[in-house]
Amino acid sequence: MNSAKPSYLTLSEQEWQDKIDAGLAMLEKCVLCPNNCGINRIAGKTGFCRTGFFPRIASAFAHTGEEPPISGYNGSGTIFFAGCTMRCIYCQNYPFSQLSLGRPVPLSFIKDKMLELQQKGCHNINFVTPTHVVPQLIIAVHEASKEGLSIPIVYNTSGYESTASLNLLDGIVDIYLTDLRYGSDESGQKYSGVGKYSQAAREAIKLMAQQTGQLRCNIEGIAEKGLIIRLLLLPGLLDELKDTIRFIAAELDFNPHISLMNQYFPTWKALDNPDMNATVGSDEFEQAFHLMRQYGLTNGWIQDTQQ
Ligand code: SF4
Repeated sequence: MNSAKPSYLTLSEQEWQDKIDAGLAMLEKCVLCPNNCGINRIAGKTGFCRTGFFPRIASAFAHTGEEPPISGYNGSGTIFFAGCTMRCIYCQNYPFSQLSLGRPVPLSFIKDKMLELQQKGCHNINFVTPTHVVPQLIIAVHEASKEGLSIPIVYNTSGYESTASLNLLDGIVDIYLTDLRYGSDESGQKYSGVGKYSQAAREAIKLMAQQTGQLRCNIEGIAEKGLIIRLLLLPGLLDELKDTIRFIAAELDFNPHISLMNQYFPTWKALDNPDMNATVGSDEFEQAFHLMRQYGLTNGWIQDTQQ
């Protein structure tokens, strides 16, 4: 059981309305993410993320393979969105993130799905790839809270976030579960097709850290609030990962929980890319692990098998 009240249960009606109004305004000339497409999503136009107003859902289920405080013993109530603000050439979820799979749903469907996952005993609602549908999710969470939703919200993201969007989520998201994928903007452009990834993601992580602080769990070890950073070692990018580790150690005020992942395998367009059609050596992974220890980053997990 969770003991602390999720943040969103303390928002006033006025605070909800202000966030919803601000979110809808951002969708009208879409600036939800750093791609800044500027198109009217409310009118159904689509930009880089290939998503109009209605979110598309790839899957919804009790996920038992997330980090232990997220999945717990009953699973994390995962709602996986199709479309994405990035175009990673190695994306393992490319049928949903890059191809037009996943069906558009009304916001009431998302509300009902959250309540259903809570009813099943899930410890949290885990929005995966949610960046491009933040205002819609705020509306859905608001409606669900009126019907009894009372478990924490996990925001599970690539880290390519705008600060304006994160400000909307302040007081709604309890747990940020974010990637910090590249240590340079050049790699973000080259392998994910987006500008200024490193700059945007580093700013985003500092803001997430301010909003939620260090990971806190209840007596059963289930996450209630905080930040988890996922670091995936990519082929040829060990030096960038080392730079990322130094950034985390230098810029965050606490020792964050880090999920260090050695799960890369080439798929999708990476199979045609000489840099990414490769694997990561265990010696490189050990170097990353030792550097984290050297900088005192001792909280978290190592994931060295594919989920
Ligand atoms: S959320 Fe989509 S449409 Fe909006 S700025 Fe980002 S990529 Fe463009």
